[in-house]
Amino acid sequence: MTLFKIVYWAALIIEGMIRSPYQKTAKAGAKTDRRVSPTEMVLLALLTVVMLVIPLIYTLTHWLDFANYYLPAWMGWSGVFLMACALLIFWRAHADLKSNWSPTLEIRADHTLVTGGIYAFIRHPKYASELVWAVAQILLLQNWLAGPLHLIFFIPFYLLRVQAEEKMMLDAFGDEYRHYMHKTGGA
Ligand code: SAH
Repeated sequence: MTLFKIVYWAALIIEGMIRSPYQKTAKAGAKTDRRVSPTEMVLLALLTVVMLVIPLIYTLTHWLDFANYYLPAWMGWSGVFLMACALLIFWRAHADLKSNWSPTLEIRADHTLVTGGIYAFIRHPKYASELVWAVAQILLLQNWLAGPLHLIFFIPFYLLRVQAEEKMMLDAFGDEYRHYMHKTGGA
């Protein structure tokens, strides 16, 4: 349904608008640690393909029509609801993390450990938001290539990223982060 495609693209634009002010601050300033693995870079590139490139082909052409599936309307509307939740969590996480956010794993010279706001309840809200997004995408973009691939590629990315990120945070903040881990759930 066209409406569900519109919702998907509106969400992608809103997400870009939420992220954009933090992109400049993330680049600026000295970094004391940076951990980027080749596997993670490959998975990040694949995530861009399944989030942006394939949905674009699906929306603008008929090339992928052979892989369409059709869900009942209530499932599409559940996708709208989940997408709104994903954006809300994404917005709140950015607002709480502020300049401590970075697209790849980095520690800033002026890094502070955030334990308040949404981070008091969820240890990795931005990744939780992407998980909810990936489920919403299956319900909104009803095509085997444009819908479910995001979730399929996100799972290995998530497992790899969280492991590396928690190790980096423990190295940077030690007991402070260990104590924080005990207080929060995984997602
Ligand atoms: N895992 C978090 C943050 C993702 S952004 C989430 O899902 O919301 C990744 C960067 O955030 C990492 O480079 C790390 O330096 C930083 N970071 C992660 N958790 C943090 C925290 N609790 N406080 C401050 N910075 C954090």
